[in-house]
Amino acid sequence: MEEPISVLRCLGEYHSAELFNEDNVKTVTSIEQKKVEDSVQDVFNAYKINHRLSPPSLQREQHYIYLKRGLRHLSDAYECLDASRPWLCYWILHSLELLDEPVPSSVASDVCKFLARCQSPSGGFAGGPRQHAHLAPTYAAVNALCIIGTEEAYNVIDRQKLLDFLYSLKQPDGSFIMHVGGEVDVRSAYCAASVASLTNIITAPLFEGTPSWITRCQNWEGGIGGVPGLEAHGGYTFCGMAAMVILQKEHMLDLKSLLRWVTSKQMRFEGGFQGRCNKLVDGCYSFWQAGLLPLLHRALHTQGGSSLSMTNWMFHQQALQEYILVCCQNPSGGLLDKPGKSRDFYHTCYCLSGLSIAQHFGSWEIHHEVIVGKEENRLAPTHPVYNICPDKVAQAVQHFHQMAVPGKSGASSQTPNL
Ligand SMILES: [Zn+2]
Repeated sequence: MEEPISVLRCLGEYHSAELFNEDNVKTVTSIEQKKVEDSVQDVFNAYKINHRLSPPSLQREQHYIYLKRGLRHLSDAYECLDASRPWLCYWILHSLELLDEPVPSSVASDVCKFLARCQSPSGGFAGGPRQHAHLAPTYAAVNALCIIGTEEAYNVIDRQKLLDFLYSLKQPDGSFIMHVGGEVDVRSAYCAASVASLTNIITAPLFEGTPSWITRCQNWEGGIGGVPGLEAHGGYTFCGMAAMVILQKEHMLDLKSLLRWVTSKQMRFEGGFQGRCNKLVDGCYSFWQAGLLPLLHRALHTQGGSSLSMTNWMFHQQALQEYILVCCQNPSGGLLDKPGKSRDFYHTCYCLSGLSIAQHFGSWEIHHEVIVGKEENRLAPTHPVYNICPDKVAQAVQHFHQMAVPGKSGASSQTPNL
């Protein structure tokens, strides 16, 4: 590992040259952009005054206390997420594994029992007990159970019924609806491919036509929209690309235009990522956008690129870490979108996930760490396809691959290229 990076990019003279230039033309978006840059500059300046040249630190202890409390008690502010309770389990458990904080076995067992109550009698998981199954909480529940990684956790998942549920959502054009009677978008293809590959129920007929449908969602910008014809968006682009990696069809996408699109979404001054063109920086895109770079790195290399000699992802890893550490931490624990916003578990999970991606470059035998600040800032690595720790992915895949693929006889199992 190299010496810790001790000089902040935001302390450098050149940094102000990266401010947005509105060319004397004010628009609604340019005014908003200037306001955000002012608030980020204020935070950087306050940091310089208070800490001089010392690099920023990750408030591990405060984040741990905030997360641990969230597993048992949630404030009234979370009432609106009553239909997203498996998500809360996943966001908190993944944040804790990134911080290398073990979950007591009694708490893990309670989470398993709760998620079992969210599982629908007809397969898949719902946002809460006695609600309808939906692909998004199904993804979150399977990820949460794989992070727990115990026999009890794996046994919660009814694989046969999960497969039936996925088939009930499949559309003739290859896309998936999010729930029975629900909308189609590219998130559903990713959620379906993710849970099917982790639990070894992935079959060729289930995903027939899906890669070509996802390809149709990539637009002229280079990124991927929610459905064909829509604007490119960070969350959808991650979902589309990660689904294609699982289905081993990433080369059907125009990878170079995708690379150009995602690299232009890192903000020059703030260091974090925006989700779409002309939008503001937001901490959660630290994962949805930066997480694309490991997927693209691998895909472009296998396509015959010369990336083997590279030791960094194709984005500014230090700038992203500085944005997260200086601008996105609540001093009382938890992380957030941008200065002035409040903390929540969603942003805590995806800011930490993005920080982990920015700290660890890894490809085959090369592993290169870029840690801004002290060694204590180092998080565990995350798997860029599933966004759970790589050992938990390996353990789940190994566990479920001992089991037969349920479903139609003669359907052949497809091994994900992980
Ligand atoms: Zn956000």
